[in-house]
Amino acid sequence: MAKQVDVVIIGAGAAGLMCAAQAGKRGRRVLVVDHGKKPGRKILISGGGKCNFTNYDVSAANYVCRNRHFVKSALSQYTQWDFIGLVGDHGIAYEERDHGQLFCLDSAKEIVEMLLRECDQPTVEQRYQCEVSEIEKTATGFSLRVNTEVVECASLVVATGGLSMPKLGATPFGYQIAEQFGLQRVPTCAGLVPFTLHTQDKTVFEPLSGIAIPVRAETESGVTFKENLLFTHRGLSGPVVLQISSYWHPGEAVTVDLLPDEDLPAALQAMRDKHPNQSLKNSLSRLLPKRLVEAMIERGDLEDKPLKQLDPKAIAALGTYFHQWRIAPNGTEGYRTAEVTLGGVDTDELSSKTMEAKKVPGLYFAGEVMDVSGWLGGYNFQWAWSSGFVVGNHC
Ligand SMILES: Cc1cc2nc3c(=O)[nH]c(=O)nc-3n(C[C@H](O)[C@H](O)[C@H](O)COP(=O)(O)OP(=O)(O)OC[C@H]3O[C@@H](n4cnc5c(N)ncnc54)[C@H](O)[C@@H]3O)c2cc1C
Repeated sequence: MAKQVDVVIIGAGAAGLMCAAQAGKRGRRVLVVDHGKKPGRKILISGGGKCNFTNYDVSAANYVCRNRHFVKSALSQYTQWDFIGLVGDHGIAYEERDHGQLFCLDSAKEIVEMLLRECDQPTVEQRYQCEVSEIEKTATGFSLRVNTEVVECASLVVATGGLSMPKLGATPFGYQIAEQFGLQRVPTCAGLVPFTLHTQDKTVFEPLSGIAIPVRAETESGVTFKENLLFTHRGLSGPVVLQISSYWHPGEAVTVDLLPDEDLPAALQAMRDKHPNQSLKNSLSRLLPKRLVEAMIERGDLEDKPLKQLDPKAIAALGTYFHQWRIAPNGTEGYRTAEVTLGGVDTDELSSKTMEAKKVPGLYFAGEVMDVSGWLGGYNFQWAWSSGFVVGNHC
């Protein structure tokens, strides 16, 4: 005989656990299934083990989604203040870092333990190392196979996440379920991900690995972020690159202001007036890491000479070079290191108020599996909490 429950949730990650807790509070008989050995694996490794669980400042502007308005309803039904309240109720200590980002003071483990305590209800059952197959629509809901057992439910929640970090259990299963039920998908690619460089640039910049500088970066479509840029042995990373990667398209260049808080022509002119015999390399090295200046010279972009040989036109050209440094990435590091997946189940297929598929009553999506990706800064978890809560309230 088939096992009967009200709700099956596929995926015990951030969104799935939040949804299970909320559905359980409504007295729904919930079965959460995950193919992994344990819940919340991405939460555990997030934020360097401290989990950047939300942000003081959350709005639709912090999300990449083809329909920019879609996220508004869920974000207002369960806000960052609701989650901060929950964290406080569970006695978890946290701290604010730059840009309103909130991190656990002790460990990301506390967030998983909190969600598990919230799920610890008589009507909520969790099962791990489960393979789900044979999903079918029935007259009253859905039938599916969980390992060898047939389970029937009124509501099916897909909370299987995106494709990033396959070694943590990411699969395209959620997209396959959407496809099975005739729902469109926005093409997926890696987001919040480091850039790789063309061989020539890689060779020049590789020795700078580990150097970080504050910059302002801009995509060809005009999206800008001011954050740190980090040179790595593979290419470029750091918060500014992760943020901008979600708006970058293959083949495009990125414009980087390497001295966002300086007026380089004015600074060079002042140095020229005071020390006309000082070399350009040494002058620039007062403002930027010396190895970076040397790499620019090695790249053939600059010629080292005494400042007195620079006329106003040359000084202006140096200003343009450093304030609008253009670099064309070769690509990204892909899903292996990406924090999120851009694209996913098309939000036009879903109700923004309930996350239910418009043409398949009882089928819900929660979290990153949808075409919703947040900026770096706790926005992705906030989407998981908000969408998971909303689904848990309706499924
Ligand atoms: C390294 C890293 C650090 C991050 N740090 C942060 C951060 O600090 N702040 C932030 O806001 N965001 C962060 N993110 C993003 C954040 O982790 C995700 O956006 C969030 O976890 C998405 O929640 P989700 O529940 O939709 O998916 P997930 O948390 O990925 O959960 C999906 C679950 O579904 C399960 N699953 C997948 N396929 C199947 C299947 N076929 N059958 C059964 N189960 C399946 C998986 O095992 C997993 O448990 C980080 C991501 C990474 C990779």
